[in-house]
Amino acid sequence: MDTLLKTPNKLEFLHPLHGYSEKVSYSTSSKFQNQELRFGPRKLHLEWGKFGCLRASSSALLELVPETKRENLDFELPLYDPSKGLVVDLAVVGGGPAGLAVAQQVSEAGLSVCSIDPSPKLIWPNNYGVWVDEFEAMDLLDCLDTTWSGAVVFIDDQSKKNLDRPYGRVNRKQLKSKMLQKCISNGVKFHQAKVVKIIHEEAKSMLICSDGVTVQASVVLDATGFSRCLVQYDKPYNPGYQVAYGILAEVEEHPFDVDKMLFMDWRDSHLDSNMELKERNSKIPTFLYAMPFSSNRIFLEETSLVARPGLPMKDIQERMVARLKHLGINVKSIEEDEHCVIPMGGPLPVLPQRVVGIGGTAGMVHPSTGYMVARTLAAAPIVANSIVKCLDSGRGLSGNKLSAEVWKDLWPIQRRRQREFFCFGMDILLKLDLPGTRRFFDAFFDLEPHYWHGFLSSRLFLPELLFFGLSLFSHASNRSRFEIMAKGTLPLVNMINNLVQDED
Ligand SMILES: Cc1cc2nc3c(=O)[nH]c(=O)nc-3n(C[C@H](O)[C@H](O)[C@H](O)COP(=O)(O)OP(=O)(O)OC[C@H]3O[C@@H](n4cnc5c(N)ncnc54)[C@H](O)[C@@H]3O)c2cc1C
Repeated sequence: MDTLLKTPNKLEFLHPLHGYSEKVSYSTSSKFQNQELRFGPRKLHLEWGKFGCLRASSSALLELVPETKRENLDFELPLYDPSKGLVVDLAVVGGGPAGLAVAQQVSEAGLSVCSIDPSPKLIWPNNYGVWVDEFEAMDLLDCLDTTWSGAVVFIDDQSKKNLDRPYGRVNRKQLKSKMLQKCISNGVKFHQAKVVKIIHEEAKSMLICSDGVTVQASVVLDATGFSRCLVQYDKPYNPGYQVAYGILAEVEEHPFDVDKMLFMDWRDSHLDSNMELKERNSKIPTFLYAMPFSSNRIFLEETSLVARPGLPMKDIQERMVARLKHLGINVKSIEEDEHCVIPMGGPLPVLPQRVVGIGGTAGMVHPSTGYMVARTLAAAPIVANSIVKCLDSGRGLSGNKLSAEVWKDLWPIQRRRQREFFCFGMDILLKLDLPGTRRFFDAFFDLEPHYWHGFLSSRLFLPELLFFGLSLFSHASNRSRFEIMAKGTLPLVNMINNLVQDED
C-alpha cells in the first residue's frame, strides 16, 4: 500500500479561513514561511505618536513587523547515509517538539533512529507558554526562559481574578538544543528534506523524500504537526480553530504587572468607539494574552479561543490595535510576530493504523484550550517505550500489529474518554457569546485549583471529570446554569453517544 501525501509541500486548511492564505502557523522571527502570507491589499496608514513611534491602524502595526529572519542552531548534525541502504528501527517525520522528544528517547534505548525534517536546525518559530508545574514534573525547568509567579484574568472591567499558579515561557532554543544534543550523542541520524510519499511492505516502510532519497524503517512516526502528513483520517475533519495574532514588542510602557502574566483579558471597553467591531466581538469574542518581560518589552497576543470557522486574522489584528490604543500601549518596534492557527477537537485519526503519530498530527491538542506542548512532551516517553518494547526481538511484532500496540498506548480508552469530554467543553465554548464566555470563566476560575489545574493540564479523567462538571455547574450563576443546559444539551448527548460507541 502506498500513500501519496495530500499536503506534500505546505500545510493546507480544509476549512479556509478568511483573509489569509492556508498556513497553519507562521511567525516572522524565524519565519521561513512568511513570503506566503496574504493580508489582502494593505494600505499604509502610518500615524506617529508623540515619541515618534507608530500607532493606531493595523496596517501601521504590521509595517513594524521585521523582515523574515531564520535562526539556525549551531550544530553539526550526523547525516543519514542513503547509500548504505539500512533499515532503521524508527523514522521520525517532523522535527518539532513531539518528533524530537520521541527520537531522543527511542535512541536512548540503543535503537537506530532517522529524523527527517526540511529545517532540522531551525529554532522552532512558535512562542510556547506552559504552566511551570507541568515542566517541573518533567525536569525541564531549565528550558523556561521567563517565569511569572502567577497569572491574571480580567473577566470584565469590574472583575479580575488572580491565579495562584506560576506560568512560564519555553526557551525554544534551549529545549531544542537539549533534545538535539541528546539525539546526537545517542546516534540519531538526520535527513534534511520533506517526506512526499510512503510505501508500506509487511515489515518495513519506505519514505520517499523531496530530494529523491528513500529512508527505510521498521516503524514510521508522523510528527508533522497540524499538516497531518502521513496519518490518515476517515471521518470528516471539522475542528474548531484557535486563531491569534501575537507580537513580541518593545513598547514605551504598558499597564501590566511584570510579576504576573496576563492569561485572559476579556474587557471590551476599547471597542466603545467602534460599535460594529464591538458587536462582532460580542458574538465571537477575543481576549488579550500577554507575557510582560519588563516595563517596556512584552509579548501581546489577541486570541480567539475557539470558533468554527476560525475568525479572520484581519479582524483579530483590528481588535488588537484598538485594544493597545485604549491601554495606552505604543509599540516602538516588533521583534517577532506570530500568526497562530490551531485546529482544536475534531475526530481522532484512524485507530489503529500503520503509521504511528504524536503531537498535532495525532489529535493531541487540548480541544478546549489549544495547548499541547506539555502534554506531548509527557506522552513522548509512553510512545517511545511502546516502540522500544514492541521492537524487542523477543516479541516478534512488526508492521500493522506493532503500530496497533503503539496507538493503544498513546490513546488508551481513558485518554479517548477524556478527549471526548474536552471536545464537549469546546462545543459549549463555541456557542458562547462574550457575556456567556465571561460567566463561564468566572465560574471556571472559582473552582478548586485541583479541578481547573487538572482540566487545563489534562490530568483529570472520567469519572473525576464528571465531578469537575458538577462543580462548575454549582459555581455558575443561575443564568450561566441555564445557558449551559440550553447550549450544552446537544453536545452532551453527542458526547454520551460517542462514549458509548467507543469501546476498548
Ligand atoms: C503559533 C502557535 C503557538 C502555539 N503556542 C502554544 C503554547 O503556547 N502552548 C502550547 O502548549 N501549545 C501551543 N501551540 C500548539 C502546539 O503545541 C504547537 O503547534 C506545537 O508546535 C506542535 O508540535 P508538533 O511537534 O506536533 O508539530 P510542529 O511543531 O508543527 O512540528 C512539525 C514539524 O514537522 C515538519 N514537517 C511538516 N511536514 C513535513 C514533511 N512532509 N516531511 C518532513 N517534515 C515535515 C515541520 O517542518 C515541523 O518542523 C501553538 C501552536 C501554534 C501554531
